[in-house]
Amino acid sequence: MIPPGKTIGVLGGGQLGRMFSHAATRLGYRVHVYEPAAKCPAGEVSAREVNAPYTDTETLSAFVAGCDVVTYEFENIPVEPLWKIEKLVQLHPHWSVLETAQNRLREKNWLRKNEFPHVPFAEVEIDGDLAAAIRKIGLPCVVKTADFGYDGKGQLKVTDEPSLAKAVSAFQGQRAVVEKFIDFKCECSVIVARSSTGEVKSFPVAENIHTKHILDFTIVPARIAPETQAAARELAEAIAARVELVGLLAVELFVQDDGKLLVNEMAPRPHNSGHWTQDGCVTSQFEQHVRAVCGLPLGDVSLTAPASVMVNILGDAWKWDGDTLVGDPDWAAILGTPGAHLHLYGKAEPRRARKMGHFNLTGPDANATLESARALKARL
Ligand code: AMP
Repeated sequence: MIPPGKTIGVLGGGQLGRMFSHAATRLGYRVHVYEPAAKCPAGEVSAREVNAPYTDTETLSAFVAGCDVVTYEFENIPVEPLWKIEKLVQLHPHWSVLETAQNRLREKNWLRKNEFPHVPFAEVEIDGDLAAAIRKIGLPCVVKTADFGYDGKGQLKVTDEPSLAKAVSAFQGQRAVVEKFIDFKCECSVIVARSSTGEVKSFPVAENIHTKHILDFTIVPARIAPETQAAARELAEAIAARVELVGLLAVELFVQDDGKLLVNEMAPRPHNSGHWTQDGCVTSQFEQHVRAVCGLPLGDVSLTAPASVMVNILGDAWKWDGDTLVGDPDWAAILGTPGAHLHLYGKAEPRRARKMGHFNLTGPDANATLESARALKARL
């Protein structure tokens, strides 16, 4: 066990690291942040910030020498430097979980090999025949780059011959995955924590609504049958056990009309769809992450309100005249609403589609709270 008072190192300095740092410092830990870009959101609220590339193993080794345990908040960290630092300090989750999750092909092959339900897919090598893979899966399908994709970046839906030709020219010379297009009932996610002692707890299932491939709303409780919710949590817990997770893992799922679940993606870190826990759950996902990597007892995952909705605040919420920024969102709308909680990430410059913050709204039931959250978002 790494008790309060010790130092936790975080690789990655974005908003997830910032909120992790808030939770860790509240429990009495010191947080050191390692992030390539200066003046990062996490560094601003932590005891120490080191800016250097992840591949600078000398600086990274010196950084971890000052930490009692190290975790990460960013998925696209190269794993090679982690091989060296795992010999110097406790690193959670293990780098192999990150390696599997950061590449769609490795992730899907891992799901297939371990017999977890997943979207049917075909693999395309760098010099492979993408058109043949598309024909094998059938239309409609989704073509995705194998590496470093998130928020819908690096993917194209193929519905007909013209879009097939477009995909072939866009993905020429890249490793890719072709997935069957799933006409799902809804998208859900489960965040599961497993501690170094082997204790496992999953948060209640969250329902996610995306707009332009970016998470827009998270709704809890998810509006799916209780037995589907139980199955989703069981599935996430089984995956966490199989990878011998220490830390947090988010499992994104497609829910089909018959209640069948398919795993879309996994991320071994706090997740945007878990932000509701800050105001709607006894323990937040960030505190749970701290507890898991430090070997503390995991926290209670009971709801503190009948329903919660999280709304992402993108740079689009600022007032723009063409490309010129002319004003801030109306923060008073959120701050003056009972049950609403504002979380901003301290990013200097709003940009369209950039995640700047979020708000959580608690309420009497999922539908009514979602309706109120939509109205509040419109007032921003
Ligand atoms: P991803 O980057 O893989 O998480 O994809 C982003 C979003 O695109 C998902 O949250 C879905 O809304 C949608 N999407 C991705 N893959 C598929 C698929 N195979 N079928 C239907 N929708 C998909």
